[in-house]
Amino acid sequence: MKKIILSVILFGFCAYNLGAAEIKTAAPGENAALGQLLEQPAANPQALANPPAPAAETAAAEELKNDDRYWITVLVSDRQARTKLLELGMDIVEVKPEKVSGFVHKDTLPVLQEKGYKLESRQTIYEYAKQYLKDFPPADSAYHNYKETTELLNALAAANPGLASLSSIGKTIEGRDIWCLRLNSSQKEETAGAKPAALYVANHHAREHLSNEVALGLASWLLGHKDDAEIKKYLETLDIYIIPMLNADGAEYDIRTGKYRWHRKNMRVNADKTIGVDLNRNYDARWCTAGASHSPYSDTYCGTAPFSEPEALALKKFIEARKNIKTLMSYHSYSDLILYPWAGLGTPLENEKDRKVFEKMAKAMAGFTGYTPQQSSDLYVATGDTTDWAYMTAGIFAFTTELEGRGFYPGAGIIEHAVTNNVKAAVYMLSVTDDPYKLTR
Ligand SMILES: [Zn+2]
Repeated sequence: MKKIILSVILFGFCAYNLGAAEIKTAAPGENAALGQLLEQPAANPQALANPPAPAAETAAAEELKNDDRYWITVLVSDRQARTKLLELGMDIVEVKPEKVSGFVHKDTLPVLQEKGYKLESRQTIYEYAKQYLKDFPPADSAYHNYKETTELLNALAAANPGLASLSSIGKTIEGRDIWCLRLNSSQKEETAGAKPAALYVANHHAREHLSNEVALGLASWLLGHKDDAEIKKYLETLDIYIIPMLNADGAEYDIRTGKYRWHRKNMRVNADKTIGVDLNRNYDARWCTAGASHSPYSDTYCGTAPFSEPEALALKKFIEARKNIKTLMSYHSYSDLILYPWAGLGTPLENEKDRKVFEKMAKAMAGFTGYTPQQSSDLYVATGDTTDWAYMTAGIFAFTTELEGRGFYPGAGIIEHAVTNNVKAAVYMLSVTDDPYKLTR
């Protein structure tokens, strides 16, 4: 199933016109070769490869009876109130003008009541899950688990020895390698890069499996179109890094039983025996001062200190060692948004020139994806995220894409559309990576 879907995606791209980009249609032979490449035997018979049968769906829901979280909808209508909810430990998933929905730990419910919040609805995660489990698509084997992701990255590197190299930027807390595919016609693996660099990273949050697919799809597409004039130019003049699965442990945990668990955080065992730190609250950017929680059981738990988590620390070290990185895209799901700093401050970016670049890039990328471009904190203020840190520390034009789809498990049918449009936005990012400031001239 996977190979069929990926082939469809790749052939679909051939016919795509990338707007103003000078991308030519690839020769059929190229795609055939890549198609063969993607037919590498895969992989873990468990996990996403085996969607649960109807009988197993009920069993999966039964397991969630022991989960301490609730799915709630709270009536709040302004950013301050949404930010406060994050601080109280709510994991806000959906934002509407008058209300928000998301997960909270059971111990947060009395706190919300005490503080006078109005709950529109409340379900245990068990009740919440049942409705979704009934809807599990039969074709989720198209998603790549960790082993399949590793195999695909190795296959892409092996098939393109002159262009692609694979290395590990560090280990997760459970000891998995965090893979980085580098696309560069003259520099390999961890050698210093002199050319301007773009970094794409995905899967900070475990259950956001679509983000891994978009990053993998981007890598496959770029290599499948390596002879197109525009892509060839980028491979020769830029340094391109793709890290598809930063939170490999969490992603595996989320699917380990072949049933989804709505897991967001990494796999840190906290002092109180709860599991996980929110990696996208663990960066040293106004760390845990707003929109994040100090409670280990919360889904927005920021950790014991900035960069307490090996996954965030690995990315920190990776970025600090590569002064040539100019642009960064961090893929998340879901909300159809392209976000830029500040995430951790409710005010616009002070540097007007930089703000213009952010706004222009976000608007352009939104044009390719159909998503909404906006400052991250327009939704709610959340400190300690990747993009604020990358911009504050290294002046990188760093964005968050919240991909499309209704829910964290939108099925395999969405992959092609999400990859196709986000590849166009990613290629646009490459087109300005040599000098983002050219957008202000
Ligand atoms: Zn996320």
